[in-house]
This record gives sequence, structure tokens and C-alpha cells, in this order.
Amino acid sequence: MDIGRTLPADVSRELTAANALAQALLEAPAEGIVQLDADRKIVRFNASAQRILGYAQSSVIGSAFEDMLHSSNRNDVFSVPPGGDALVTGLTLRDSRGGAVPVRARCIAISHDETDGWAVAFQTKQRAQEIEQLKSEIVSTVSHELKTPLSTIKAYAATLRQNPALYDSHRDEFLTVVEQQADRLSRLVEDMLLVARVETAQMLRKRELIDLNGLVDSALSELRLDPVLHPVNRNFASVQVSGDPDRLRDALRNLLENAAKYSPAGGEIDIDASQKESRTTIVIRDRGLGISEDHLPFIFDRFYRAEEEGAEHAGGSGLGLYIVQALVRAHGGTIDVKSKRGAGTAFTLTLPVRR
Ligand code: ADP
Repeated sequence: MDIGRTLPADVSRELTAANALAQALLEAPAEGIVQLDADRKIVRFNASAQRILGYAQSSVIGSAFEDMLHSSNRNDVFSVPPGGDALVTGLTLRDSRGGAVPVRARCIAISHDETDGWAVAFQTKQRAQEIEQLKSEIVSTVSHELKTPLSTIKAYAATLRQNPALYDSHRDEFLTVVEQQADRLSRLVEDMLLVARVETAQMLRKRELIDLNGLVDSALSELRLDPVLHPVNRNFASVQVSGDPDRLRDALRNLLENAAKYSPAGGEIDIDASQKESRTTIVIRDRGLGISEDHLPFIFDRFYRAEEEGAEHAGGSGLGLYIVQALVRAHGGTIDVKSKRGAGTAFTLTLPVRR
């Protein structure tokens, strides 16, 4: 049907826009999505469906979806009542080479008066299991990480309340601990929000030319490191970086926090930086525990914690370096690590400078 000739121009424009929006929404998810008409023929087949099943979109539009379904599964999809929406966990699809692909699917019968078509959204069972595993990792890491600061805060507050005599002598000391633990909680929440941003690619909001000294100041003020326990030496004068100041501060804060967390009291932290042509290089070096070769290849993985001897009491979610790497890459940069067990660790960031 030629929409342009049979409908008024404004309605036709709206329909075209709605169609473009539907197409864009269909292409976005990682799930395969197939839309069928009332004759069970394929009218839309998104990029993820192509990737999972291996068919080219042009070869499947107009063909019967039943040909892609294992014979035992037909009723699972087509017996969904008009307007109904069913989760089908045991669906098997056939890929372009004839192989069986077990999926978890949501089948929706699109309907006005009677069934006008179907939409099937699916992901492979393996992907569904990975998502389940990720969810339980998040729940266990986050609840573990929440528990420690929360019980410390509760214990210190209860001790102060039950021992009024401590008020004068220990109030500041106790409140400092409570404040530090509350900071730790809010950093965990920040990290979780950053991970959500990393994974939806909504990370960078601004692009500015920023003075590195100012960035280090704001990262350190968030961390509130004790300068006696964790002296930080800045071995550079005036260096500029370009990018989103909030996200670059997050990256530096995570690296400086680790440098302090995995170093003994008094262990110095050095920041070296230089700018050559259109690249800024920043090195954050500590003289702490170091990371053994066995763990080094995995430290940028989500939730990975090396838990080396000597760091048993250093809390953490294993998200810091995953976030830092994603932030640096989003800026078009790279991150490298060099470390020796017992001798310290150096992270090198290279960031392009764009004016
Ligand atoms: P965490 O929350 O555990 O600190 P990260 O993603 O920031 O998570 O770091 C991953 C792991 O890498 C840490 O658990 C730690 O074992 C190791 N690590 C990171 N930075 C350092 C460092 N500066 N010195 C020693 N080990 C480090």
C-alpha cells in the first residue's frame, strides 16, 4: 500500500515517524525480536535475532515463522490468547544451519478484536543463565559490601549512646569512623550507578579541557585520605586532560583509593604526568602489596577481587578497575598496569587531548 497516496500528508508523516521509532526501538535490545502478522509470517526481524540465529533479515521477511520453530513448540507460541503475554522457557528455534537453539522467550499475541499477529522476544538459554549469574553476583557482592560499613556505623552509634562518658573523650574519633563508613557506602552506591552507566553507554556528558591538579584535588577531597597515612606526591606542574571532569575524577578517585587501600600506613603514592603532542599520560604508582602474576590478567574484570595475602581486610566490590577501564576507553584512552608482588603497582593512563 502506498501510504503517501491514500492518507493525508500529516497522518502519513506521523505514521512514517512512528514506524521509524518502532524500528529503532526494535534494533536497540540485546534480545532477538521477531514480529509476525496474522498469517504467522515474519514482518520484522531485529539485528539481535539475526546475530543469534544467523539468518539475514532480507531472507526471512515474509517467510513462515513456523519454519524456524521446532515442531514440538508451535503451540507454545500460537496458543497465546489474543492480547496475552506468556513466558516460554523451553522454546527451541532452528538457526540458519539447521542447528537447535534453546531459548527463553516472551510471546505476545498482538490484538485488537482478534489476534492480529505476534511478537516473540528471545535470548539464548546461555545468555539467560549468564544474566541470572550476574544478578546473583551483584546481590551477594552488594549485600556483603553494605553489611560491613552498616554494622560499623551501628556499633559506634550504639556504643556512644550507651556510654555517655565516652561523649567528651571519644566523640570526634567515633564520629570520624561513622563518617568514613558512610562515605564508603556512598562510594559503593556511586560505583553501582557508574556500572549502570557504563553498561548503557551513557557515560560522558561533557568534554572539557581540565587542569589535572584540580582533578586530583577533587578526587582526593572525596576520598579524605589522611596525608600522614597516605602521602600523595604530585610530580608534575601544569598538565591538561580533556574529557568529562566528573568521570575523569571518578577514574582517578578509584585508582587513588586502591593505591591507599593496598598499601601499608605511610606508603607513598606518586602521581606522574606529562603531555606530549595530543596525548596526556598519567601514572599512579604505589609502593604497596602489589598484585601477583596469577591475578594480574583479571583485575579489570567486573567483580574480580584478587584478595591477596595482606589485603584480607580491604573491603571492595571488585567494580573499581572495571569502571576505570570503561571510563578511560570511553574517552578514547588506554590503561595499563605494571605490578610486582611486595613492591607496588603502577597504573598508566593515556588520554587523547582534544581542544
Ligand atoms: P576492589 O573493590 O576489590 O578494590 P578493584 O576493581 O578496584 O576492586 O580492583 C580489583 C582487584 O585488583 C582488587 O581486589 C585488588 O586485589 C587488586 N588491586 C587493584 N589496585 C591495586 C593496587 N593499587 N595494589 C594492589 N592490588 C590492587
